[in-house]
Amino acid sequence: MTATTSLADAARRELPDLSESIVGPGDPGYDEARAVHNGMIDRRPAAIVRCESVGDVSRAIGFARAHDTAIAVRGGGHNGGGLGVADDALVIDLAGLDDVVVDPDADLVRVGGGCTWGQVDRATAEYGRATPSGIISTTGVGGLTLGGGLGHLTRGYGLTVDSLVGADVVLADGSQVHASANEHPELFWALRGGGGNFGVVTSFEFRTHPVGAAVMAGPTFWPIEQTPEVMRFFREFLPTAPRHLNGFFAEMTVPPVELFPEELHMRKVCAIMWCIVGSEEEATRLLAPVHEVGTPLLHGVGPVPFPGLQSLFDGLYVKGLQCYWRADFVNELSDELIERHLEWGQKLPSMHSTMHLYPIDGAAHDVGSTDTAFSYRDAQFAEVIFGVDPDPANADAIRDWCVGYWDATHPYSAGGAYVNFMMDEGQERVRATYRDNYDRLARVKAQYDPDNVFHVNQNIHPAGGA
Ligand SMILES: Cc1cc2nc3c(=O)[nH]c(=O)nc-3n(C[C@H](O)[C@H](O)[C@H](O)COP(=O)(O)OP(=O)(O)OC[C@H]3O[C@@H](n4cnc5c(N)ncnc54)[C@H](O)[C@@H]3O)c2cc1C
Repeated sequence: MTATTSLADAARRELPDLSESIVGPGDPGYDEARAVHNGMIDRRPAAIVRCESVGDVSRAIGFARAHDTAIAVRGGGHNGGGLGVADDALVIDLAGLDDVVVDPDADLVRVGGGCTWGQVDRATAEYGRATPSGIISTTGVGGLTLGGGLGHLTRGYGLTVDSLVGADVVLADGSQVHASANEHPELFWALRGGGGNFGVVTSFEFRTHPVGAAVMAGPTFWPIEQTPEVMRFFREFLPTAPRHLNGFFAEMTVPPVELFPEELHMRKVCAIMWCIVGSEEEATRLLAPVHEVGTPLLHGVGPVPFPGLQSLFDGLYVKGLQCYWRADFVNELSDELIERHLEWGQKLPSMHSTMHLYPIDGAAHDVGSTDTAFSYRDAQFAEVIFGVDPDPANADAIRDWCVGYWDATHPYSAGGAYVNFMMDEGQERVRATYRDNYDRLARVKAQYDPDNVFHVNQNIHPAGGA
């Protein structure tokens, strides 16, 4: 019997009411249970505990600490760096904490810590409402929220954390607290961008916002060679557009799916993916200038129920693809930087690989840089370079492209990067990302997790400690 097998056995002995929910090496289903979204990640935890209640989470933490074993907390398992799993660790898998309760009178939704966004979107759509999240429905609420949350509704309704009104958190000592503006306010401040550093969030409470029965959404595509004029249009048009219009820029390859005309399949394009919370007439009026830019290949904006928009790319970015991530915040899309995007966009190494520029403005700018842990409120864009391919044999090619693209554009960046778009880039990058908020985060960490029990994340070191 190996050392790692014995930890799972010990867990079954010491946590008898959870014994059916513990998976260790050698158990059926172990490989499935340890697999995360990124197929490049191949880690072998000592045990995985599938939790369904606050008590389960608390007991699992106590067990891991008593056995001096690292803890990895898994929400949706989407993290690029695979931070929901770690070698030899005890994984606290939250997928069983998946209740979603909408309060239509208060415009709130209470969400279990292991939910994915699709579960939330479907529930709130019943009332024509949504909480801002990302662009893929299979992403975990936990990781996305704790890192900030950027997506289709950022300009209108802010980051995901700007809609967070409270969270139930199991701390490193196994106790549970509620964090909100009035209770544990420093913890609440830290949770809004500081990642999973402070405890396990078993429940989030969010404000919801009107999105109607359908939003007006879809892409405009241009030949990739027209990147310079499209990007210049993007940088000038967006700040003048009303907040209920959102658009993110992409360098991409048109996937060979029915949704797009066959003649565009596999063509490299630059694109803007629009989402307008408004009527068809309004979207047509607001997007009229788009048709004057370059020679659009396709303008596919139409009414889509919000959950439909959120799951539009799910089939493309399925679990198990090889993924390599690099990212930056960007203050200014200078002409020189645009030339770098043209050069590297044309070198997209595979159909799935892409570069996205998400706007951080509108409602996201209403909140100050020190009001929440998410520091880069003054940035204009979050850039993510995403090398992706199904074939492990192409892992080096997508990594080399991603790093080459980042090396070329990073000198024009604002410094740090959105934590949810990073892999493991070291402590200096984490500090650069939190800037002046880092020291305050380190003090909150020292108060709520002085022994750095929760360190499988973009780690904040406790102030004055290890
Ligand atoms: C295809 C794809 C598209 C994406 N698109 C977007 C996007 O549009 N916008 C955006 O903002 N992000 C996006 N992301 C990034 C995403 O926000 C991060 O990958 C995020 O970390 C995923 O959260 P998760 O819960 O699924 O991940 P996990 O891997 O489960 O967890 C990530 C981190 O969060 C911690 N964590 C998770 N849940 C909890 C919890 N309940 N309590 C405490 N800690 C927790 C984990 O310990 C880990 O450190 C995308 C990712 C992918 C793969």
